Amino acid sequence: MKKTNQTNRSKQYREDDQAGKRHANSAGCGCPQEHSFSPQAPASKPDLAQAFLPTRFGSFKILVFPVDACKDTIVLVKGEVNGAKGVLTRVHSQCFTGDVFCSMRCDCRAQLEKSLQMVEKNGTGIIVYLMQEGRGIGLANKIRAYALQEKGLDTIEANKALGLPVDSRDYAQVAFVLKKLGVKSIRLITNNPEKIYGLKKLGINVQARVPIIMPKNKFNAKYLKTKKEKMGHLL
Ligand SMILES: [Zn+2]
Repeated sequence: MKKTNQTNRSKQYREDDQAGKRHANSAGCGCPQEHSFSPQAPASKPDLAQAFLPTRFGSFKILVFPVDACKDTIVLVKGEVNGAKGVLTRVHSQCFTGDVFCSMRCDCRAQLEKSLQMVEKNGTGIIVYLMQEGRGIGLANKIRAYALQEKGLDTIEANKALGLPVDSRDYAQVAFVLKKLGVKSIRLITNNPEKIYGLKKLGINVQARVPIIMPKNKFNAKYLKTKKEKMGHLL
């Protein structure tokens, strides 16, 4: 009896694993890691989810535009943005190590916190949180790139050594979200001219750039230098 239960369990694990693989393949979510879980049955037509979200930096409305388990687009909105022009907007790319663990290898969390403060102070604005870890290469690859950076490579060289793109972010979801919210034009909080170019290419009216310069530390100085010298960031 016990053996039968174990056999059933292993069979179930195998099926779960296969279901995970099917999800990764059929959803085409672009997530570089293979899923090892069975996704819950999706709603036939997933709806926008929204609620009030008080934070340490102020109160916002949180909206989740369901795309896929790996690619949901998360948006914080402050004030009335429908029909508004020059809306203060941050398009923040997910950085698990920085945003969650307060990593000092980059300036992501500091930028996210500062953006929340800026939007709160402004009284109106939007934070789009893009689930595209490591500029689109995924968390495991980002950590592999970190390991190469510990051997002296910079962030660009490390990605290239791994055969990965330096920046494979896709801003289509940003265009979709801003259209849904009825935003006419934005003032983008960024140091990255490429991001402005990427958004403009999708028809987003970027009225102005709002710089966001965070203090350096001994762990992120080289990374910020590379962003400035090789990636054209205005630091
Ligand atoms: Zn980061």
